[in-house]
Amino acid sequence: MTGADFQRLRDDFPILARPVRGRRLAYLDSAATTQKPTEVIEALRRYYLEDNANTHRGVHFLSDRATELYEAARERVRRFVNAARADEIVFVRGTTEGINLVAASFGRAFLRAGDEIVVSAMEHHSNLVPWQMACEQAGAQLRVVPIDDDGEFLFDEYEQLIGPRTRLVAVTHVSNALGTVTPLARIVARAHAAGVPVLADGAQAIAHAAVDVQALGCDFYAFSGHKLYAPMGIGVLYGKSEWLAKLPPYQGGGHMIRDVTFERTTYEAPPRKYEAGTPNVEGAVGLAAALDYVARIGLGAIGAHERALLDYATARVGEIDGLRVIGTAREKGAILSFVVDGFTTGEVGAALDRHGVAVRSGHHCALPAMRRFGVEGTARASFALYNGRADVDQLIEALRALRQ
Ligand code: PMP
Repeated sequence: MTGADFQRLRDDFPILARPVRGRRLAYLDSAATTQKPTEVIEALRRYYLEDNANTHRGVHFLSDRATELYEAARERVRRFVNAARADEIVFVRGTTEGINLVAASFGRAFLRAGDEIVVSAMEHHSNLVPWQMACEQAGAQLRVVPIDDDGEFLFDEYEQLIGPRTRLVAVTHVSNALGTVTPLARIVARAHAAGVPVLADGAQAIAHAAVDVQALGCDFYAFSGHKLYAPMGIGVLYGKSEWLAKLPPYQGGGHMIRDVTFERTTYEAPPRKYEAGTPNVEGAVGLAAALDYVARIGLGAIGAHERALLDYATARVGEIDGLRVIGTAREKGAILSFVVDGFTTGEVGAALDRHGVAVRSGHHCALPAMRRFGVEGTARASFALYNGRADVDQLIEALRALRQ
């Protein structure tokens, strides 16, 4: 795939043709959510035109059809992340729900007073607050791996934090605020050497590099469909089968039980044990279509394209007086966070918006990471497969106009 090939992919995303504030849209907020290709939009439409019903096998034709599509989507996800088994794929609402599921279930079953959970200083609130809640309930404690001035994960400090009271490590794969890619496979290997399981927050990794959960070795891996060209409201929690077998269910309700009496309920095997209520079949169908789309382009090519764009953008923002990049790790995902002297991040975001440039401004749900850098927020440009140099050039032009 060449740069020109990627330029053509912009046409796969109809919303990108929509002018914004009278300008061509430079959508640089894909870390918040990606736009959707026609193929995904059409899959959703087809689902409601032809296949919609609730998922119960053997009840009627459409119900069987919806069940088949839902389970086919699970298998599609399994292949995408190279899980050993499809029943290790739990459909959830998104990364947030996936992490809350593990924090609540693991916390209830395995966390006791005096225990410790290790997180990093650059976690999104959704990989921090659920652990705080679980710790509070158990009388356990959070231990925080520090980061350096570039936003690098400090591995030596991490090793020091792993001790006899450590029960779980919860760490991001790619930081949404700084862009840092953490050394996840090494983090997992070190934790496992101490018999400690690892949950990875894959929200910012999954659309930008091939993720192989077996090669990474992590026990849990959570991500959101909407950051991967799929609809909102569908996400995935990968869990190793031995963990999914022994954790208690997160929510109770329909679809997850084997038998119910007033005295006692027995549960279905995973993944259904963790999928109480009517599932998001529409979302699963859209996710499967998105994975087909992404796989056809290839995550290797997507990652290389985005890295080239990030390098180009990083070099070009150097032309802007008083602009400081926050997050300068050696290995970064498709994220460029920055502050501009004399302007609040809200002012920067609003000024860019007037030029049709969509960036996120604020604390990115990572307040502790922001404070580590002495800022309350940043403006953040983030890249996806449909971005090109024209988007970066429009960003630079808007930043120049702000400075004048
Ligand atoms: N973790 C990270 C690193 C994220 O970037 C996000 C989304 N901003 C989340 C978790 C939460 O994802 P969601 O809101 O889709 O549950």
